[in-house]
Amino acid sequence: MKVGHLLSSILSRSTEAAFAVGVLRRVALLSESWFASERVRGTDLRLKNSPVTLIDYAVQCIVNAELERRFPLDGLVCEEAPLSIADSRLRRQLYAMIREALPEANDRVIRDSMNYKKPASTARERYWVLDPIDGTAGLLAGRQYATALALVEGQEVVLGSMACPRLPAKCAAPHYSIGWIYLGLKNQGAYAHRIKGKGGGWRELQVSSFEDLGKATYCESVIGSHTSPRSHLKLARSLGIVRNPVRVDGQCKYALVARGEVCLYLRFPKKPGYRERVWDHAAGLILVEEAGGRVTDLRGERISLADDYRLKESYGVIASNGSVHDKVVERARALL
Ligand SMILES: [Mg+2]
Repeated sequence: MKVGHLLSSILSRSTEAAFAVGVLRRVALLSESWFASERVRGTDLRLKNSPVTLIDYAVQCIVNAELERRFPLDGLVCEEAPLSIADSRLRRQLYAMIREALPEANDRVIRDSMNYKKPASTARERYWVLDPIDGTAGLLAGRQYATALALVEGQEVVLGSMACPRLPAKCAAPHYSIGWIYLGLKNQGAYAHRIKGKGGGWRELQVSSFEDLGKATYCESVIGSHTSPRSHLKLARSLGIVRNPVRVDGQCKYALVARGEVCLYLRFPKKPGYRERVWDHAAGLILVEEAGGRVTDLRGERISLADDYRLKESYGVIASNGSVHDKVVERARALL
């Protein structure tokens, strides 16, 4: 459903929503152009076995600098620590990338952008949550990734936005032009817009009304380092799901549920003690909820953002179209 006027009116009233959409569109176009350019391609810094690239750092610095300019009182919780780049050549390259987005920025602004301001109290302050590149392995392999930015007030996500630069309009589509921006606003719905060009304006997202799990598809991570595909399969089979899972990088999985393409996203932790990181879920969960779906942990509890870094009180994640949620949680609890 096209909702151009409705969303234009929401965006004109919400400085934060207009900011999020604007900054995500810019960094999405830059990420794709950096990836395509020889200058950056292959220059990935691997930290603690997790692939992190200069693109991750540059996107984080750009969003941080823009937040600092527009919303100086807000804190930020994000994934990377760009100050840890010791190599001077890489630091120079990073400065050049940031300057592409912020041509007016002097060295001090760029240096400051590497040092983000954590919220002193997640209970009292409002703050943003950013995963600059969610699915870096996907970015490098030419698969999916997302840049995810959420706004938290009173420990509730009130705005979630994601750029998925490579996500086609339909999963099965053979090609993509340049993907989508998604926006979920508390009590105001979930929407999608093409990153480039007019592309038909804003569309409202609606989860599927699917109830027949025998014909359902679920999605899960491509990289199983923290999640357990085996547990997902066990749960799926016990629910009568016979189709193979769709494996997608980053929070694009939430987008697939929100736009009604799959009815379920499963995320069982590989190890019992593992707790999810807030920037991997904050933007995606409000997108699914505002599209009419549900997001809980494996026990059916609402996802709690009481902590600013890990979802300490939540165990795994189930995101669904809502219709199948209770049934899935009931079986999941039996498997825990
Ligand atoms: Mg990341």
